[in-house]
Parts: sequence; structure tokens; C-alpha cells
Amino acid sequence: MRPKFTVSTAWAEKVGFSDEDFCQTFDIDLESAEASDGRCPKCKKSSEDSNLNFYVWHPSDSPVKAEGIQYVRCLCGTMYYFGWKTETLWAPQ
Ligand SMILES: [Zn+2]
Repeated sequence: MRPKFTVSTAWAEKVGFSDEDFCQTFDIDLESAEASDGRCPKCKKSSEDSNLNFYVWHPSDSPVKAEGIQYVRCLCGTMYYFGWKTETLWAPQ
């Protein structure tokens, strides 16, 4: 599914919109999320087939590597999470 909107971490930090603010605004209950292998533990849909994706990034001192947790609200309503790592293809000059 195509996203309705996206928000960058940089923008959220700039305007002071915290993870707690996102959770309150979008009724995200991180405590209810079930551990997963990247698919919904209930219906097995991929994280792309979801109503919401929310990323909690671990602090990093590298501009090209990031690690964190992806929380997903599946189309079936199940909240689940899994670990996430990324390494961007660009590097500062
Ligand atoms: Zn599901």
C-alpha cells in the first residue's frame, strides 16, 4: 500500500515531536506489540500490507548506518515489531 504521509526523524526532532507524541497522536500502543520475524504473527502479511509503520531508532554516531525497531499495525489490527538495520548508499562528502 502507498503511504498517506511520511515524517522524517530530522523534522520530528527539529519541531520537538517526540516518539511519545507520535504514539498519542496515532493511538500506537508499543506495549501491546508482539515480537515477529517481519511478518504479522497472526495473518502472515508483510509489513508493507499495514495501516501504520513506526520506527524507533537507536542512537548512532554514524550518518550512514541505522539500527532500531520497526513497529507495525497490520491490516488485521495486530501490532507487532521486529529489529531493523539499514545502511544508506550515500555518504557525506
Ligand atoms: Zn495481520
